[in-house]
Amino acid sequence: MKPRVEIIALGGTIACTPDAGAGGVAPGLTGADLVAAVPQLDALAQIHAGNLSNLPSTEIGLPLLFDLAAAIRAHENGGTTGIVVTQGTDTIEETAFVLNLLHRGSVPVVVTGAMRNPSLPGADGPANLLAAVACAADPGCRNLGVIVAFDDVIHQAAWVQKRDTSSTGAFWSPAPLGWMAEGRPILYARPPRSPGFDVPPDAPLPFVPILKPGLSDPPLLVQACLDEGATGLVLDLAGGGHVQSPWLDPLSAAAKRIPVVFSSRTRGGRVLSRTYGQAGGEIDLLNRGLKGSGDLDALKARLVLMLSLMTGGPDRFDDFTDLSWRAEDPEIPFPRRSR
Ligand code: ASP
Repeated sequence: MKPRVEIIALGGTIACTPDAGAGGVAPGLTGADLVAAVPQLDALAQIHAGNLSNLPSTEIGLPLLFDLAAAIRAHENGGTTGIVVTQGTDTIEETAFVLNLLHRGSVPVVVTGAMRNPSLPGADGPANLLAAVACAADPGCRNLGVIVAFDDVIHQAAWVQKRDTSSTGAFWSPAPLGWMAEGRPILYARPPRSPGFDVPPDAPLPFVPILKPGLSDPPLLVQACLDEGATGLVLDLAGGGHVQSPWLDPLSAAAKRIPVVFSSRTRGGRVLSRTYGQAGGEIDLLNRGLKGSGDLDALKARLVLMLSLMTGGPDRFDDFTDLSWRAEDPEIPFPRRSR
């Protein structure tokens, strides 16, 4: 019997059609349209496609992701083999990351999209969709949490970042999980599953802004964030987590009231914790009660902080910042593909 794959379409470039009124392209194709354009899918799986939205991905908010996670749970309980989410690429690094924190099941959840819309030569949506369905149908992709299949590279949601405005290879992670070869996913790593969140349906969305100080930037927005009711603050700082000294007193005061997290605007490498002793260095910030974001960039740290606040306390934040494999983690057997 063929595997069953559910495609949940949200919109984005992969679903765009020319829109004369808007003077460009806009999401219009449905999940069923996307499937109809790729007849090769039929050989891989029995497919069912539906839409949860048809939006540019910057319109996707946490409430839609909570609905998506519930839909994924329902499909898993209904016996589906795997799930593909198609959406705009602009926010995949956030949406896939959140879904990974909400998806506790074992079926593969594979997020994909397109950089070139369907009206362009070399549109990449059909190939990305085919690769995503191949991953969703593959038993080797079970228990990986949420993955992103894009441009024949398979990324872990915990790490993936969009790093280019236009390239079909816009997605990057420091160590991809694997690659597509001859239409099948070939995996080279099997990361431990991260802990997850059970978000109560009525939890209000916390306001957690990100500030990114540039040279000579005064710290005025720190107080503005507090005045506007921020319940957490993320700083996207230079290098290993460093800020100019005029920010220090306002940040110390803020950290006495709300959780203040610092990450690195380099978007690569873990924030430092024990190297620089200067005022405004990471050691100083930690001594002032700020938290380092570990392996998480600012966008991902913000999302973990929001979900921690929504589920009872910022103390859980620290449980999510180390993405490495540690000796105490269980060895996860790497399933051999049947050939
Ligand atoms: N450029 C985006 C995309 O690739 C638009 C969006 O994220 O909705 O789909």
